[in-house]
Amino acid sequence: MYFPKLEIIKTNKYMNDYLVNKFDSWLATQSEMYSDYLNPFSFIQESNIDKKLGLLVFALAASEEYFTATDPLLKIKYLVDCPNCLNNYKTYFDRKEIPNTYVGCETEECDDFNPSQHPERINIFFERLEKPIIKDDDALQIYEKVDVSPLTYADEDFEKCMWKLEEKKGL
Ligand SMILES: [Zn+2]
Repeated sequence: MYFPKLEIIKTNKYMNDYLVNKFDSWLATQSEMYSDYLNPFSFIQESNIDKKLGLLVFALAASEEYFTATDPLLKIKYLVDCPNCLNNYKTYFDRKEIPNTYVGCETEECDDFNPSQHPERINIFFERLEKPIIKDDDALQIYEKVDVSPLTYADEDFEKCMWKLEEKKGL
């Protein structure tokens, strides 16, 4: 595997070798620049896999249940955009930090907004924290790039995955 530490998420009952290996090689083909803003929907479309399973594999790779807080493979980030001008307001690394109060963006004409009331404007990306281990005889599968919109906080499937993981309901 290009990221040997992913081996551990295979123990999750919804995972299997095929899916985790596909995820492993997809992650390895992402360029340095793009690897700070990985979109789960790209993986799901380019690999043609089930949406919930695709979201879950990202959640698991970033989860403290499988890795210690300092050692996950992926880090989740929430990019909050202003619902008026659509410019980026702020980036958060913990969803508990997303304000549930009114804040103002830098554009003067914009009204204040409450980020928690605009989940559709909270884009979720993942950052890859490690480089792949590539041996000379590895033939990387290249995935065809597809244009997809980002995952947002309004996505119920993803919310379910994350909540369950955090509450340790035995996913
Ligand atoms: Zn604005």
